[in-house]
Amino acid sequence: PTELPLVLLLFGGTGDLAKRKLYPSLFNLFKKGYLQKHFAVIGTARHPLDDEKFQEVVRQSIAKNGTEGQVKEFAAHFRYSSHDVTDLKDYGKLKNMLAKLDKEFDAGGNRIFYMSVAPRFFGQIAQAIKSEGLMSDTGYNRLMVEKPFGTSYKTAEELQNQLESGFSDDQIFRIDHYLGKEMVQNIPAVRFGNPILDATWNKNYIKNVQVTLAEQLGVEERAGYYNTAGALLDMIQNHAFQIVGWLAMEKPSSFSDTDIRAAKNTVFSKLKMYDEREVVANFVRGQYGRGREVWQKSYTEEPNVPADSKNDTYVAGRLQFENDRWTGVPFYIRTGKRLAAKQTRVDIVYKKSSFDFGKFNQDKLSEPVLSILIDPVGGINFSLNGKNVTTEFETRSDLLKWSISDQDKVKTPDPYERMLHDAMNGDGSNFADWNGVSISWKFVDQIAKVWAEDKAPLEIYESATMGSVASDRLLAETGDRWIYRG
Ligand code: NAD
Repeated sequence: PTELPLVLLLFGGTGDLAKRKLYPSLFNLFKKGYLQKHFAVIGTARHPLDDEKFQEVVRQSIAKNGTEGQVKEFAAHFRYSSHDVTDLKDYGKLKNMLAKLDKEFDAGGNRIFYMSVAPRFFGQIAQAIKSEGLMSDTGYNRLMVEKPFGTSYKTAEELQNQLESGFSDDQIFRIDHYLGKEMVQNIPAVRFGNPILDATWNKNYIKNVQVTLAEQLGVEERAGYYNTAGALLDMIQNHAFQIVGWLAMEKPSSFSDTDIRAAKNTVFSKLKMYDEREVVANFVRGQYGRGREVWQKSYTEEPNVPADSKNDTYVAGRLQFENDRWTGVPFYIRTGKRLAAKQTRVDIVYKKSSFDFGKFNQDKLSEPVLSILIDPVGGINFSLNGKNVTTEFETRSDLLKWSISDQDKVKTPDPYERMLHDAMNGDGSNFADWNGVSISWKFVDQIAKVWAEDKAPLEIYESATMGSVASDRLLAETGDRWIYRG
């Protein structure tokens, strides 16, 4: 591969994400040759640390993934600066370091600023990068922003305004790691790479679309954050919406990031916004109760969760797009904690054939379903109608199955490796853009408001089941049912 020279300035260089994801991902890019000699990483955090100790942190995080020689060579590209992101004075030091390292490693003036610190700092850091002159004028300047991007439309817009004061939207790479998942990236390949699917990807052939992001775990150690967010903000506003973007979008005029975003935005602008009554009619919320096992406590019995919490750990709902392609086709989305299984998937439910195969086949035809399995095992299932082996002519549903092989699984890059690689290439195809993010916030705000005012029931569901019964009713209203049932 072609080497991608840069200096990466990482805010939050000693944090959990940096150690667990970012250093291993950068190391993979190094082993593959995307990073060679012409790169440097500056890690910053508040506490004092020297370069040697910082490099030791980096070496430890990747020790298992390469030879001693590779690990040493890679870590030698890392420098540390103790820095308080809230103190403008500290940025001058970083400016000098950037210039010095750019020269030392001949990095072409390319800069990525990666904000891996608490979200409340994002806006401030972006503004300081600009005001304190950290940007290069010879290469590119790009900003990578961790999640969450705001907590409502209002706070997201405030953040966006702060980022925009220094960076244009094509320089901002908002991380949504679901967009970095192998099988999410496979959606456009399957959809646009096969005319038989592309041509039928519309209301004439598709009955409904289902996106499931099911988790088996409960809230674990994250109650402090989770109880202020809930499933709606934690999973629906970002991940579910971004997956729906790939599924619902118009066909882009080319496979460039600009055209992909434009095609997604065209469909997002046709999303039906709900008023209070429509929220209640189209969305349901739930919270996990106890399960059959003793350890399956209810959500409100979990550590650091208030006993009277009405937080949603489950959400299901119906999205509607009002355009030629989709009018009348529900997009169902659901997510939840402590469900029967961990499963991330998309099910495209096709309409049933109306062909009459005669008297022995009454009601035997099924709705064909194309399933794109994302986690824990990537794959594609396609259920089709075929003939049963009986003497009388009747049909039955058969399943064609493909899943990612063990060899391919080993080769599959972690989402963070892809996202870093794409940002270095300036490819925003797999990042959320502001227009999409703002529409999803406006949509989600309406739901959050109805729930905050307690104008919709909160259903307590049994742990280790597929969640709220109300969500089954939601689909039944339009003659549909969830394909994945745990
Ligand atoms: P963390 O608390 O482990 O690390 C935060 C880092 O910021 C530390 O290096 C800390 O020293 C530094 N820091 C804190 N205050 C600072 C200040 N005033 N000035 C300079 N540095 C300061 O957090 P994390 O889990 O690594 O998360 C980082 C970001 O990534 C957050 O935005 C989080 O929402 C996001 N994120 C993390 C994960 C994950 O798996 N850890 C997953 C998704 C998103």
